[in-house]
Amino acid sequence: MKIERIETFLVPPRWLFCRVETDDGVVGWGEPVVEGRAEVVRAAVDVLAEYLVGQDPLRIQDHWQVLTKGGFYRGGPVLSSAVAGLDQALWDIAGKTYGAPVHALLGGPVRDRVRVYAWVGGDEPAQLTEQIAAQVEAGFTAVKMNAAGATSPLATAAETAAVVARVSAARDALGPDRDVAVDFHGRFTAASARRVLAELAPLHPLFVEEPVLPEHGHLLPGLVSASPVPLATGERLYSRAEFLPVLAAGIAVAQPDLSHAGGISEVHRIASLAETYGAQLAPHCPLGPIALAAGLQVAFATPNFLIQEQSRGIHYNKEADLLSYLVDPEPFRFVDGHAHRGDAPGLGITLDESAVRAADRAGHRWRNPVWRHADGSFAEW
Ligand SMILES: [Mg+2]
Repeated sequence: MKIERIETFLVPPRWLFCRVETDDGVVGWGEPVVEGRAEVVRAAVDVLAEYLVGQDPLRIQDHWQVLTKGGFYRGGPVLSSAVAGLDQALWDIAGKTYGAPVHALLGGPVRDRVRVYAWVGGDEPAQLTEQIAAQVEAGFTAVKMNAAGATSPLATAAETAAVVARVSAARDALGPDRDVAVDFHGRFTAASARRVLAELAPLHPLFVEEPVLPEHGHLLPGLVSASPVPLATGERLYSRAEFLPVLAAGIAVAQPDLSHAGGISEVHRIASLAETYGAQLAPHCPLGPIALAAGLQVAFATPNFLIQEQSRGIHYNKEADLLSYLVDPEPFRFVDGHAHRGDAPGLGITLDESAVRAADRAGHRWRNPVWRHADGSFAEW
């Protein structure tokens, strides 16, 4: 069997899908995307496809080596995401060829259901209680929220109080038996994070995510020592090598993104690396159905798995949502806040190919907002 054709589809709300077809007619799907830079990843996939076409799709690990290392200059979000989507598609093809779900090829399931969480925004605190009530009604046992909007380099007393008030409102709405995770989104400096983390501790967040920017990862050891709240990071890290120092710093939760960090192959290895540090896996996934399907396959085969992000109803999904391009929504029918294990081959989902092709004709030009502080200077989003 040989890879015959690789296509990409730029589909709303902000995703990029790839479709890998073999000369036997087996088709695998992947989601190679960097949010806001989808067209750039598309170009990277086209370049990597030059190597893959004509190759045996089942030599996934050998292809991973060549795709990540064969170009001499390596790594970074664009190349790692291009490889990630292609890797997902190759695992999908392998599963369909062997008649097995990907989690079976990864060594078999270690759990029957996977806990997922829902987003409740948090940039607009007024809507928070209402959004949480809706997610609790839908059966979710955990939500994630942003801690704050644009935040001063040293958060003011009012800004700090507003963060605590938001998380406190969330805790009140959730009660003691459900969880809230809080995303700092790299909007805080280490000094601000240290102060806010101590104040959030009594509200018992499940974890606080990206307490500082990835480029300030060298400050994590001090922050971990100072924080009574478990810290998470990883959506902007792209390989085992980049996870090693943050795991050594003592983060509690590793959050690789299946569409950014080298795909199923590398995230499965990152999970193993995290296990050696006693850290849990919580894959980042504010993306589409293929990325989520890949995350769930890894989750079913990973002992040190904590919780999976998913994007149903997320604030980004305006023109299309998680189920828009699926023939059958069943794999993402969450019961009591959990996804249940299926035995469909490959990634376990079936894309509506005509819907994908039609959506690609419209395309999208999604870009993340650029924020400014009150004085006009650049602010982290
Ligand atoms: Mg995040």
